[in-house]
Order: sequence, then structure tokens, then C-alpha cells
Amino acid sequence: MLTVNAYAATSATDPLVPTTIERRDVGPKDVLIDIRFAGVCHSDIHTARAEWGKVSYPLVTGHEIAGVVAEVGSAVTRHKVGDRVGVGCMVNSCRECQHCRAGNEQYCEQGFVDTYGGTDRDGTMTQGGYSTHVVVDEDFVVRIPEGIELDEAAPLLCAGITTYSPLRHWGAGPGKKVAVVGLGGLGHMAVKIAAAMGAEVTVLSQSLKKQEDGLRLGATDYYATSDPDTFDKLAGTFDLIINTVSAQLDLKGYLELLAVDGSLVNVGAPPEPMPVQAFSLITGRRSFAGSLIGGIAETQEMLDFCAEKGLGAEIEVISADKVNEAWDRVVASDVRYRFVIDTATLG
Ligand SMILES: [Zn+2]
Ligand SMILES: [Zn+2]
Repeated sequence: MLTVNAYAATSATDPLVPTTIERRDVGPKDVLIDIRFAGVCHSDIHTARAEWGKVSYPLVTGHEIAGVVAEVGSAVTRHKVGDRVGVGCMVNSCRECQHCRAGNEQYCEQGFVDTYGGTDRDGTMTQGGYSTHVVVDEDFVVRIPEGIELDEAAPLLCAGITTYSPLRHWGAGPGKKVAVVGLGGLGHMAVKIAAAMGAEVTVLSQSLKKQEDGLRLGATDYYATSDPDTFDKLAGTFDLIINTVSAQLDLKGYLELLAVDGSLVNVGAPPEPMPVQAFSLITGRRSFAGSLIGGIAETQEMLDFCAEKGLGAEIEVISADKVNEAWDRVVASDVRYRFVIDTATLG
């Protein structure tokens, strides 16, 4: 076992504190990663605060991990010491069901193993990336190509793949009109990736506060959803809308922004049910759908795509002792656009 420094939640209400945790011995198929950067995702906060269900403490969150391979097991073939690598939201799955075999481990019939707060296949609880090292099965470790800095790559492991996967699945590309609802951690990556895929991108945000950023990131248009004229003006416009906002939306209004055959895809997860009027769907053969992260092969594809297009996340690097402040700012939507912890500051 390896004892490593980490920042952990000890209850649903107390601030995170510095601590040490144990990492398992490097097994034949395992990779030991020297973590360099860990992105701060809103899911970390929801999970640690038990807003998404019961959790065991201490809990080390973080599923946007970028680092360098420090050691490999005897049977590892995909990675070698010194490689730049990443780990996202999953560290294992059953590998046998139809979805795992198709490379959609995120839809594993037995449920994939979460990077933190999950039960790994050896029965231990997983601990995430707010830490100096992690041991992960090589099949759940992806390569970070040269051309993306590790700090800017970290958020791609959740925010990047969460938006890339539906953009790819629903065919964002030249000739397609894509709208992104919300310009936060997920939304800013959705804008960058959709624009790099060749789609015409519009941001739909509550206000025009971040308009300059949205246009710089690749959007051609930017509208305030607080302005009712927006919904009249854009009715029937979009082939695809990616909704990154985890709050109640007036779905009728957004569905009517879709062209015939258009899809509104939720990647955020508001806790309350959202009522849908069938009329908004049937009058344009429209779909209301959802999408969860992406498979491991697709995560690699996304990283390769981002490297080729020169895309990384817009980040604010922080030291570990600033993480509680960072969480408060994430909850207040006061970040442009992702905090990344420099794990060298974990001591
Ligand atoms: Zn996340
Ligand atoms: Zn499976």
C-alpha cells in the first residue's frame, strides 16, 4: 500500500481538510499515476455534500485527473512510465455486458465504478483526484497527447467528454445549428468543441454578462434567455440544443427553438422532474434526450480531437488550500470556467 496526501471531505457539511489516504499496491494490470492536476467539477460538491445520496467519509473527490505514469504493473501494455495520462469519471466496469463490449462503459448494465465514492471490484471504496497519486486499471487510463497542457487537459476528462459525446452522437458539424444552454464548466467546452466540429454555435445564457467570452470561445451568436424576445426570434432554429444547466428550465420554450427533427439533450441533472408538453415534441418530430459522459475509447478520441484542434479548458489554477473557497465560488457560478488544483501543493 502507498500512503499519499489528499484533501478529503469528512462530513456533508464540514470544509475539506488535508489528510492521507491509502492507495492499493500496483497490480499486474494497474498504472500508478503521479497526479499533477485535478479539475473541480460541480459533481464533486454535490457528492461530498450528500446531495445525490449517502456517501462514506472521508471522501476524496476529483474525477478530472491529469498526470504522469510513475509505475506500471507487469501485464500493462497500453501505458509506460513517463506517459502523460488522464482518468475521468470511471475506473472500472463489468467489461462483459453489451454496452461495455461496445465501448459504452458509462452505460454498463452492472453500473460502472465511479472514480470516487464507488465500490471497486476488489470491494474497496474508490478515492478521487484531489490527491498526489492514484492507482487505476490501465483500461480506464487515457493518453493525453502532446499539444495540450496537463492543467488545461484535466477538465476535459469530465466536462470535455460530457459535451463531446452528445455533440458527436447527434451529429454536430458543418451545416448544423447547435445551441448551448449555460456558459459554465460544461457549456464553455461545448461551445469550443461544437465550433471545432464545424457547427454554427449559439450560446443561450441567462444574461449577456459572458457574451464576449462566448464569442471568443467560438460561438457566432449569443442571446439572453431572460429576454422573452429571444424565444420568439429563434423559434424553429436549432438542430441540436445541449442543455448544461442543472436547474429547472421552461422546456416548452426551449423545445420550440428546435427545427423539425431537432433534439434537446440534457447533460445537467436537475434533481426535480421536468414536465414536457407532448405538443412541443410532436409538432416538429422533436426529441428530448439525455447523455452521460462517454466511453473510454470515445474519451481518447475526444482528447486526440482537442489536441489536434488546440483546445483545452479555460482554467484558474489553485493551490489545494484554496479548494473550499473554490467550491463556494463554483456553487455561486463565479468561475471562468474551471478550477484546477495544482496537486504539487498537497505537500
Ligand atoms: Zn464531473
Ligand atoms: Zn458492463
